[in-house]
Amino acid sequence: MRFIETHAHLNDEVFDADRADVIDRAFKSGVANIIEIACSAKEWKPAEELCAAYKGRITAAFGIHPQYTEELTPENLETLAGFLKKDICSALGEIGLDYYRDNSKKDAQFKLLEAQLRLSNSSGRSCVFHARNGLDARADNAYRELAFELKKTWTLNNKKRARGVLHCFSGNWEDARAGLDLGLFLGVNGTFTYKKNDELRETVKKAGLANIVLETDCPYLPIQRLRGKRNDPSFIPEIGLAVAEYLGVKPEGLAEAVRINASELFYIL
Ligand SMILES: [Zn+2]
Repeated sequence: MRFIETHAHLNDEVFDADRADVIDRAFKSGVANIIEIACSAKEWKPAEELCAAYKGRITAAFGIHPQYTEELTPENLETLAGFLKKDICSALGEIGLDYYRDNSKKDAQFKLLEAQLRLSNSSGRSCVFHARNGLDARADNAYRELAFELKKTWTLNNKKRARGVLHCFSGNWEDARAGLDLGLFLGVNGTFTYKKNDELRETVKKAGLANIVLETDCPYLPIQRLRGKRNDPSFIPEIGLAVAEYLGVKPEGLAEAVRINASELFYIL
């Protein structure tokens, strides 16, 4: 079985001591390709270097995460546009709305999101989206507001089966449906294995194999049995097994389906 890890932060400092070993272990586990997420201006160049060191096996998404609203400057947008043109670029991201960390900067988050959606439109790059509701999900509903913004600003026509991914999907079926209608996959990670997440598992099942990709979001969000520990891409096959078991499909069938989804989305051959 071959997998694509669609969301890793391998340049995080927690991997400084053993990054090469971690990557090696991932490849040995059955992960064929990794998408590194560089979501702050200071992460773009290091991500490019990581991709160069693992040519063809690690590619990157470049963007500005909603928690870094102060990075919205004309200079940064110009630099970002340059990274989006590179061969090692697989997508724009992660971008979006985060009302969990800070719901006081909604206007600034929208401005940052809009500016980057326009870059997606002009560059033709598909997007990795981050959406996280506030503690009061009804008042601070990032999924609903993201969908609203995408309908308004996002005209990307990349002629592909999907235009992006709702990474670390944590919404309900209504949020999933809105995402699928906008041409997005659901990013499924270790949270799928958490005991409390019955609704998430049912939502993923309803969405089906045609509409999901696998990710870890490492170093965060390890699978249930490793909670509290550092996550890494070698756990992708285990996430895949958990999803296959819940959906009642063969692991090989799941692996093939989600690999094709991810390869179409991120231009991996
Ligand atoms: Zn991430």
